Amino acid sequence: MTQTITVIRGDGIGPEIMDATLYVLDAMKLGLEYEFADAGLVALEKTGELLPAVTMDSIRKNRIALKSPLSTPVGGGFSSVNVELRKRFDLYANVRPAKSFPNTKSRFPSGVDIITVRENTEGAYSAEGQETAADGQSATSITRTTRKGSERIVRYAFDLAVKTGRKKVTVVHKANILKSTSGLFLKTAREVAALYPQIQCEEMIVDNACMQLVMRPEQFDVIVTTNLFGDIISDLCAGLIGGLGLIPGANIGNDAAIFEAVHGTAPDIAGQGKANPCALLLGASQMLDHLGMTDKALRVREAIVATLEARDSLTADLGGTGSTMDFGKAIASRV
Ligand code: ATP
Ligand code: MG
Repeated sequence: MTQTITVIRGDGIGPEIMDATLYVLDAMKLGLEYEFADAGLVALEKTGELLPAVTMDSIRKNRIALKSPLSTPVGGGFSSVNVELRKRFDLYANVRPAKSFPNTKSRFPSGVDIITVRENTEGAYSAEGQETAADGQSATSITRTTRKGSERIVRYAFDLAVKTGRKKVTVVHKANILKSTSGLFLKTAREVAALYPQIQCEEMIVDNACMQLVMRPEQFDVIVTTNLFGDIISDLCAGLIGGLGLIPGANIGNDAAIFEAVHGTAPDIAGQGKANPCALLLGASQMLDHLGMTDKALRVREAIVATLEARDSLTADLGGTGSTMDFGKAIASRV
């Protein structure tokens, strides 16, 4: 059976890193069919819409999308196309692996291998009840946490731990102060954790978690947390391995999953063949995992590691002089 995926080439450096990524995937002969669809600035220019109905239909039908970064021009209708996609498909789990790579500028050259699972739809980012008083002297917003929202994200994290052979899940919270919201998240997490006796469950207050991550990152395995904490902690983890250039992100829901690079459109280097394609390629590797092609997913990762070790055709951000496609070809020759 061939698997069709929706491919969104995106804006800025998007098309360049997508070409290199698809070059590597093609070299593996995975039997994937690509259905190209537009979103973001490119779509706005062609169709007058940031998220055309055909694109939405394509993702709904294929349930899997590989997406380059998108830019959201002011006045396009929403604050962010990326956030809008997460909302429309209820992509509740944001999954970001941060794993050390050889020959990169990291303070922790080895030993970091952390997957952050961030709740993506509620909590402090539900954008409910945002209000600034008429006199400008106070502002309020609602943080809503639900049992359903907490349960599905914690379950996702534990299922991921089981599936990927991980040993421990750390539940990061602030239930000592945010007694209602973070309290409900922690209580629900404990109930879910009890269903997975084979996985060690640890609880950690978010401030301590930040300190521990910087001092002893090797003690973490899978982290699960609420929206705001997850946003901050996943960037902290990106910093541990040397920045956003090597971090993919998956946005997963029950009906669809979208795989991407964590970085943006990088307009400063767009169209110059300088962009590093690794983050998107690692997103494609997460996609292969999600599709059950675990061995293929691993081969992509190992080919990236081998190319970094050989310093073959690396892009400028990694200290090399290769172009985006040179780097892609060097990786493809090793898959
Ligand atoms: P956006 O508004 O789409 O987020 P941005 O201007 O914030 O775009 P980012 O993509 O977030 O840009 O990138 C920040 C910096 O990192 C830029 O200097 C950019 O050139 C660099 N950068 C981002 N992605 C890559 C990449 N894949 N390869 C090389 N450099 C990158
Ligand atoms: Mg940015």
